[in-house]
Amino acid sequence: MSSNTDQLRKIRDQVINFTSSPLYHHRTQNHYLPVIGEGNHHASIIFIAEAPGIQEARTGHHFVGPSGQIFDQLLNSINLKRQDIYLTNIIKDKLPQNRDPQSQEIKAYAPFLLNQLQIIKPKTIVTLGRFSTNYLLSLCHQPIKPLSQIHGQPITISTSYGTSNHIPMFHPSAALYNPSLISQMKQDFLILKN
Ligand code: URA
Repeated sequence: MSSNTDQLRKIRDQVINFTSSPLYHHRTQNHYLPVIGEGNHHASIIFIAEAPGIQEARTGHHFVGPSGQIFDQLLNSINLKRQDIYLTNIIKDKLPQNRDPQSQEIKAYAPFLLNQLQIIKPKTIVTLGRFSTNYLLSLCHQPIKPLSQIHGQPITISTSYGTSNHIPMFHPSAALYNPSLISQMKQDFLILKN
């Protein structure tokens, strides 16, 4: 069996060559890069966000724009470092006008996310925002509820590699529009300390 890094590299190459993606032309026309996943390849915590913003698509790295500053603030608040965790998105390419992902786009990119989970086998899966949260809930046959009701509440899910904790959380960009959310987000992050 090849190492996690080798297996994750294969996923990276598959996403780079995903010419049948509904977002592939948007990527190449704008000279964007896909943002596939980064961090610790043996992390026990994986964060699944939504889709790259413009700064992420220009650099190929996660959370380098304004929402990244919020994300780093949240990690710092519990003394976690980016190299302790793995970070990915449900959609690996930038969406036009940063619109919401469509269900066929989620379906097209989901196999990459499922492979990333299968390789890393995280004990804790944090979904950031409603799209990755709803995707994971439906994958695990859980009822879909508003994020405002379920954020910060862990549920045990069974995965193809064993059980895992799923913790839905607000997307860091929510605090850009509503700065008062940051204290709630920090409160939710506290659960990761254990
Ligand atoms: N927003 C996301 O959902 N993911 C990123 O990587 C950056 C911004």
